[in-house]
Amino acid sequence: MNGLELTVVGAGTILPNPGLAPACHLLRVGDATYIFDLGPGSLQRLAASGVDYKSIDLLFISHLHPDHVLDIVTLLQANNATPGWERTRPLRLVGCYGLESFVERLLTVFRDAVPESYLLEFVELAVGRHQIEGVLVEVALTGHTSNSLAFRLETAAGIFVYGGDAADIPAMVDIARGADLFLCECSFLAPFETDDHLTALSAARIAQSAGVRHLILTHTYPDTDHALAAAQAATEFKGRLTLAIDGTVVTC
Ligand SMILES: [Zn+2]
Ligand SMILES: [Zn+2]
Repeated sequence: MNGLELTVVGAGTILPNPGLAPACHLLRVGDATYIFDLGPGSLQRLAASGVDYKSIDLLFISHLHPDHVLDIVTLLQANNATPGWERTRPLRLVGCYGLESFVERLLTVFRDAVPESYLLEFVELAVGRHQIEGVLVEVALTGHTSNSLAFRLETAAGIFVYGGDAADIPAMVDIARGADLFLCECSFLAPFETDDHLTALSAARIAQSAGVRHLILTHTYPDTDHALAAAQAATEFKGRLTLAIDGTVVTC
């Protein structure tokens, strides 16, 4: 594979909805694999997408809401509890401010998940550009919570942007500029708007202003009808548009 391949592992939210599981997204670039968020049930669904949990060395975490983080504990316990296998490679969690203390607090409750044979590393990213294991990663605050991040990966195969959960703010246009794939939340439909999430319309306006090639809408609430969301988004966004469900794969 020469380009980018995005698998939407979980296209939903915290609300139960068959076919739209909590947030998890998998990007493959050549031999490299990047996972963005790990909502409840993600480890199971990643296995269905061909990702062995034992091979996960790097996780990107956008923010600390349960629909984006609960399977971190599952992964850490699985790393300790696999018969005949001992994890020795470090596991690196890269994400928003507060990530380390958040996970450390979880581990005071889930003692069986405390790493036994390997190092758990944290990298909390400031707004700006960073080199993470050889790839250029830019992050921006999204306005969803005080520390919620969007991630922009600039690779030789193309530009991928994951907006996390986001508010309709100018920083979202900047982080998505010229993206080949822009994976963006679309919690609701117009005219139901909130200060801390995007709608099909606001996501589409951001993507159009940013000159995005392919907009993939994810994180839809159960009442957010996909056909209506696509119709609303198409009034503002003129590029390629995909409404994601669990298992959606797009490439560029
Ligand atoms: Zn969410
Ligand atoms: Zn959230």
